[in-house]
Amino acid sequence: MPSKGTPGMKAALLETGRSHEPFREIIDRFGLLLGRQAEARDSLEPVDLGAFAPDEDHFLSGEPLVNFLDIQLLQGPFRQAAARVWPVMGVIFPSLAESLALLERKLTDMPELLSQCLQAVAQGDGEALDSAAARVGVTSDFLLMALGVAYAPCIAAQRQALASKAPVELWRKPYCPVCGSDPDLAVLENHPEPSEFLVSKSGEIWHHCPVCTQRWRFVRMVCPGCGNQDHETLTRFTIPESPREHIYACEQCRQYLPCLDLVEQASKIDFDLAALKAVHLDAAAQARGYLPISPAPWAALGFAEEQTKAS
Ligand SMILES: [Zn+2]
Ligand SMILES: [Zn+2]
Repeated sequence: MPSKGTPGMKAALLETGRSHEPFREIIDRFGLLLGRQAEARDSLEPVDLGAFAPDEDHFLSGEPLVNFLDIQLLQGPFRQAAARVWPVMGVIFPSLAESLALLERKLTDMPELLSQCLQAVAQGDGEALDSAAARVGVTSDFLLMALGVAYAPCIAAQRQALASKAPVELWRKPYCPVCGSDPDLAVLENHPEPSEFLVSKSGEIWHHCPVCTQRWRFVRMVCPGCGNQDHETLTRFTIPESPREHIYACEQCRQYLPCLDLVEQASKIDFDLAALKAVHLDAAAQARGYLPISPAPWAALGFAEEQTKAS
């Protein structure tokens, strides 16, 4: 958590008083944020991708599509998304409002700061992040969180155009084929092929990206955190009161990913909200000492010290 000047979201949540219904509070607040991000995404036009031509071999060996993109093409959409998302973020978490307004001003005053920020958030460039944070006068943790909430709708608006240029259906990595983010949720579901007589009762695993909203197939019995395939150290917990909700955990890397079993469910769900609605799974997993694979901000709140009824 950030230590000076800019409190993190956990502190911001706690500042408003400890709720009797911690999950309700978290779902309400982050639900507002996700709603505004979806609006921002829908309002953005896809950019001209210029010379974007991903190398298929490099892609299939694990390079997400964003690596082949001139990320500075996203400068305009990023500022537009930030203008929509940051004010709402400041209302949901009032103690962050001042730092968000400062960041907005600095981006206007120092045009070259934006290019550094995009490098930090899209390409995981730690040096660019630290340098940009120092120039703005905020912590790196705060800056990465603020950039992330504006970058998500901005890359989500380009998702289909990017994905159309590569065989994303062949991707089997644990992270997103489009933006490279770790997943926030695994889902078990059936994708019956017309040629198949028998549909597997156990279903396929599909991951969901909390940043660009892409979904992709993953492989069963592999830890998405470390690649561990030893079934004796791969654990699955089920919440007693909801047998279709699981936690996949790994004893080697001590990380977890929530999983919803939709194999026998006919109705559709909103995948972009599903991980947030399953935040009680985060609490249950963290109470057992596991760390989230998900980069979603609520997963990072740190439930281990909280009393959770799900544990
Ligand atoms: Zn993604
Ligand atoms: Zn692992």
